[in-house]
Amino acid sequence: TAPALQVQDLEILAPSGTKLVSGVSFQVFPGHLLGLLGETGAGKTLTARAVLGLLPKTLRASGKVSFDGHTWYSLGEPDQIAQHLGTSTGLMLQNPAAAFDPMQRIGRQLVESVVHKRLMTRQEGTHRARELCEYLGLSDTDELFQLYPHELSGGMAQRLALALTLMPRPRLLVVDEPTSALDANLRIEALKLLRSISEEAGMAALLVSHDLGLVSSFCDSVAIIYAGRFVEYGPMTTVIDRPAHPYTATLLSCELTLDRPSRSRLPVILGEPPSPGNWPRGCSFHPRCPDAQERCAIERPLFTNEPDGGYACHYPRREGRTCNI
Ligand code: SF4
Repeated sequence: TAPALQVQDLEILAPSGTKLVSGVSFQVFPGHLLGLLGETGAGKTLTARAVLGLLPKTLRASGKVSFDGHTWYSLGEPDQIAQHLGTSTGLMLQNPAAAFDPMQRIGRQLVESVVHKRLMTRQEGTHRARELCEYLGLSDTDELFQLYPHELSGGMAQRLALALTLMPRPRLLVVDEPTSALDANLRIEALKLLRSISEEAGMAALLVSHDLGLVSSFCDSVAIIYAGRFVEYGPMTTVIDRPAHPYTATLLSCELTLDRPSRSRLPVILGEPPSPGNWPRGCSFHPRCPDAQERCAIERPLFTNEPDGGYACHYPRREGRTCNI
């Protein structure tokens, strides 16, 4: 099976020329979920937005992206990539209020989202909307479609926001997890639905998150991003059971949610993450790494691809180093 999404050598530069993201390559297969995990400012959201062609105009990207193994697009031409948004790619914002026009009835918004783009006839759109709502456990669609967004409960709004994103049958969905505290149960419920739809429809998804627990519960593979680079990437079970990178091992040992305030972090994660673009020389993690040696402050480790995943570390733990956390 061809990957639903392939990204090669993504680099994102600030207007000053500072590298915000670099050397990022990955792929996601149909029906699979890849978690992009990192602290605020590490570059995970920029990476996901570049894949959709949605970077702020002031930033410059390079590298290549391909959907469904067909055409390769240059990441430096975001308009070409963004033309897929709302058809074969989708972005799910987990704040459902942001998904709907408050002035229009729900049914109309669902149907118009595909009719307007000439993806379906009105009849097909109505059928698709009903089918999706029923799948998502929303009954009595006649009544539901007459409602305005402010008349929905939190759970209904969450499911309908998912339905709206899924209307055009996207092949790739990006879910950008908010850092603010939305109702945790609703988030989990939406991700469970996403997981089953993704498997059934063969849709690939990218879950951008700071929450290790959430990513490990729902994703098939994970990419851990630190200071604008992947530090570890591979199948979820490999990364969780045998982390190679000290950063991953530290996160796992602490079961951290990365955006937890530093004062409540366990002492093994020393210091603060570097600010975007202001990455330390050598290995960017060396000021905080419990395994750092002299070489780490001078020489940046290259990303090593192994059959069961890759990592960027001079002294990976998977090679039998003793875990000293
Ligand atoms: Fe730690 Fe050195 Fe590995 Fe960086 S290269 S993660 S500083 S051991």
